[in-house]
Amino acid sequence: MADRLIRAIAADAAIKITAVDTKDMAERARQIHKTLPVATAALGRVLSAASMMGNELKGEQGSITVQVKGNGPLGTIVVVADSEGNTRGYVHNPATDLPLREDGKLDVGGAVGRGLLMVIKDLGVGEPVSGAVALVNGEIAEDLTRYFAESEQVPSAVALGVLVDRDQSVRQAGGYIVQVMPQVTEDAVARLEQNIAKAGPVTAMLEEGKSLEDIVRKVLSGFVVEFLEERPVAYRCSCEKKRVVGALVSIGKQEIETLIAEQREIDVTCQFCDRVYQFTPKELEDILELALEK
Ligand code: ZN
Repeated sequence: MADRLIRAIAADAAIKITAVDTKDMAERARQIHKTLPVATAALGRVLSAASMMGNELKGEQGSITVQVKGNGPLGTIVVVADSEGNTRGYVHNPATDLPLREDGKLDVGGAVGRGLLMVIKDLGVGEPVSGAVALVNGEIAEDLTRYFAESEQVPSAVALGVLVDRDQSVRQAGGYIVQVMPQVTEDAVARLEQNIAKAGPVTAMLEEGKSLEDIVRKVLSGFVVEFLEERPVAYRCSCEKKRVVGALVSIGKQEIETLIAEQREIDVTCQFCDRVYQFTPKELEDILELALEK
């Protein structure tokens, strides 16, 4: 079954929820970047979150970039999502390998470290809007909860999970973001908090075979659930040759001159996917001119 995203509200309380299943997305990212388990989990969590946040944007042209800049061994994680919830992303050190935590879980917080979470929203018109908060623990879900509270003033609960199988492939991945509007009652918030605690980790629910709808009904247990939207989402890169030129220009004038002198073709791989673009010596000369203009 392909990845899906659903949105729902509690019709009798000021609560909204988005949930996403990202197994294929996280697995595709693993294959592209050859991530080891802790990197697979960290990148997968950010992919899930960005997918839900992208889908929230109004307008077809919009995109959202989530950057997790921690001081841990993973380095920076970057994920871009479109306004439907399709994503692409990378992590600086995909081969990061850390021992499991004492509870047997992957040490995502240790691999990410401390630092900043940045969110850049580009609505396709006007200047992009950005917000940043300090990471709480590098586990991503709590970091995003802080982002929503401090940067957007929206009380939220974020659950994200990636379960890596013994063969290192992604066995389960997904998450939800539940948010309350200002007019929500204290009773509703208390019931919601109880529901979330009782529901447990999202990967455990997926592993039990629960659908996204089941998960939403569980989190909104006791409320009148109204489903608003359902759509497929996927890992999707929209790269093209002219965009990777930027990466090539950055290698420097002298390097490019050497390549031209040697009449060599060079391959440049997209940062977000496994597509390789070949540049001929003639194309390199044009790029050199571009580099000289700068
Ligand atoms: Zn690409």
